[in-house]
Amino acid sequence: MDDCALCRSLHTETPIFEDELWHVRPIEAPAGVAGWMIVVAKRHVAGPAHFDDAEAASFGLALRHFSQVLLETTGALRIYTAALGEAVPHFHCHLVPRYEDTPKKGWGLFDLQRAAKEGEVTVDPQRIRAVNAAYGEALLANPFRGPGRR
Ligand SMILES: [Zn+2]
Repeated sequence: MDDCALCRSLHTETPIFEDELWHVRPIEAPAGVAGWMIVVAKRHVAGPAHFDDAEAASFGLALRHFSQVLLETTGALRIYTAALGEAVPHFHCHLVPRYEDTPKKGWGLFDLQRAAKEGEVTVDPQRIRAVNAAYGEALLANPFRGPGRR
């Protein structure tokens, strides 16, 4: 849909990984946490309540794979996962590594994206580039091969 920024971005942003259902890429800079990724449904779909059967069947496997690889690649303690769907009515799930040195945990971690945008926190851009590159290489070596659209 032309009025959806996320739909438009699927044609302009280079994904780290994509298949027929999902597009995975780093969150828009400046990232509040190195390795902050979004998993975007390629179809314009408002949220899980509106997934078709192919998306519903694939999502659990996709989420596990993208999270496992991000956990292994980053050495984070955990991968936080959230999807809200208010800013754009187009499903995208945030995967956020929580490191030993991440300044916030719990719900406060998600506020780091706003804080980075407003210049309250800065994450070393070199670290962000290195984590993004490592994640891309890891997904290239070990791509998601879940059930797609049949
Ligand atoms: Zn859209």
